[in-house]
Amino acid sequence: HAGRPLLLADNVVKRYGKFQALSGVSLSVQPNTVHSVIGPNGAGKTTLFHTLTGTVPLTSGAIHLDGRNISHLPDHARVQLGVARSFQVTSLFPSLTVRENLRLAAQGVAPRQAMRFWSGPLGRDAHGDLIGAIAERLGLLRVLDRTSSQLSHGQQRRLEVGLALAARPKVIFLDEPTSGMGIDDIDSMKAIIAGLRSDLTVVLIEHNMGIVMDISDTITVMHLGKVLVEGTPRAVRQDEAVRRAYLGNM
Ligand code: ATP
Repeated sequence: HAGRPLLLADNVVKRYGKFQALSGVSLSVQPNTVHSVIGPNGAGKTTLFHTLTGTVPLTSGAIHLDGRNISHLPDHARVQLGVARSFQVTSLFPSLTVRENLRLAAQGVAPRQAMRFWSGPLGRDAHGDLIGAIAERLGLLRVLDRTSSQLSHGQQRRLEVGLALAARPKVIFLDEPTSGMGIDDIDSMKAIIAGLRSDLTVVLIEHNMGIVMDISDTITVMHLGKVLVEGTPRAVRQDEAVRRAYLGNM
């Protein structure tokens, strides 16, 4: 496990005014792995995602992608370099089909935003192969021509992941992709995430410990803006400090 990391956070600090949400977080994400970030509410998981994807500027520290310092690049520049995050269901355009949603994402725009300036017919099948491959991978082939409002909740959540994949990322950030799901949808999402490893790298925030333990190669446990421990699921499960932070809930 000692190759060059795809993504490296080095001593990242994030302050909101006087409040320090991240107090020197370091993280090393190996390529073609599922790397989960867990921790109690308020631990700083979402803030860490924001700094890694460029949604919020960091206060100090550094972030490297493929050996390149991306600490001060805005989010759209990071997307160009292969950093993608899943959109929320609210970013799907309900009256557009799955195919059209994916096509817009492949063209580099979140559907909701695209609709502000787009008014004509959507471009022809420039991204047809990519869209077909993504739909197949996400189990959405049969519903490509349905509008996203006609999809089940599970299908909508998978389409969110699809929008991020349409940017052809090296690393994809998923923030609680299974929240609010029933058991069948959870199982298919788990299989999809595990399968992504063959082509890309996944960084995952997930509250469901069963899922985390099942599909992660590496887990970073956060607590109060710091990393408590980083390791394999087995090592994390056995860690005393982790057990204390979770009150033995693992
Ligand atoms: P959860 O599991 O509840 O989503 P989290 O681990 O993702 O929690 P964050 O959302 O990163 O935690 O929040 C970490 C801390 O930073 C919290 O105490 C939160 O109140 C604070 N925080 C987050 N965003 C801001 C902001 N924009 N301004 C001020 N404080 C913020």
